[in-house]
Amino acid sequence: MFYIGCHLSASKGFLHMAKEAVSIGANTFQFFTRNPRGFAAKDIDEADVRAFLEYTKENGFGKILAHAPYTLNPSSADERVRDLALRIMEDDMERMEYIPGNLYNFHPGSHVGQGSEKGIELTAELLNTILKPEQTTTVLLETMSGKGSEIGRNFEELKAIIDKVELSDKVGVCLDTCHVHDGGYDIVNNLDGVLDEFDNIIGLDRLHAIHMNDSKNPFESHKDRHEKIGEGSIGVSAMKAIINNPRLRHLPIFLETPNELDGYAKEIALLKENRE
Ligand code: FE
Ligand code: FE
Ligand code: ZN
Repeated sequence: MFYIGCHLSASKGFLHMAKEAVSIGANTFQFFTRNPRGFAAKDIDEADVRAFLEYTKENGFGKILAHAPYTLNPSSADERVRDLALRIMEDDMERMEYIPGNLYNFHPGSHVGQGSEKGIELTAELLNTILKPEQTTTVLLETMSGKGSEIGRNFEELKAIIDKVELSDKVGVCLDTCHVHDGGYDIVNNLDGVLDEFDNIIGLDRLHAIHMNDSKNPFESHKDRHEKIGEGSIGVSAMKAIINNPRLRHLPIFLETPNELDGYAKEIALLKENRE
């Protein structure tokens, strides 16, 4: 099965997102758990959740991916900033259990001058506080491009976080194609070499999802500006190699390209055409 979707607005609830996904040829989607700016989250509407679970079952959806607000910083030097990340992610974990067995992605944070080792420690500490043995959600660390003082800029840093997490079976990785390419992993000319490296350092069994984005910037630029599929420095043939790679083809693909629904529909159609 080829599970593909894109980022959708959560403002009209779960069932609406699932129907919107189907309308553009998708069978999964990503959404923000709450407003990334004000952090407001809508109350869980149990009727909406029930209708969503039924609809997605009928329509053969894959796992869906929730995205934490990207404005949180779990590895901040400021305790209040870390505490905000903790409280919000803790609340998100509880909400995720209304839709059991899905994925929750977050940015590992920025160490802002404390050094990446300290940042890694703080992010692992947060995970050790929020993860519960009974939860059914898998929490994913996103691969980052290394802009500013981001942690998760390479596979070693992600592995270092995972190694410090007690309930590490609840933790995995989401690979963002734009971020790794900007971060200096040559997925265009050496995809298999990059996957070997991922496997040796983290283990490919930890990889649960792919954010598929082209990049506005050149290889190793350490920026992070997403481009439409085929219009950036990664290109369609590299995307085609990714979705068909025997080590990746079981993974759900989530587009986060600068598009409205019609643009996403075209990219989903393009990737489906290129699926072998
Ligand atoms: Fe992200
Ligand atoms: Fe991403
Ligand atoms: Zn990005």
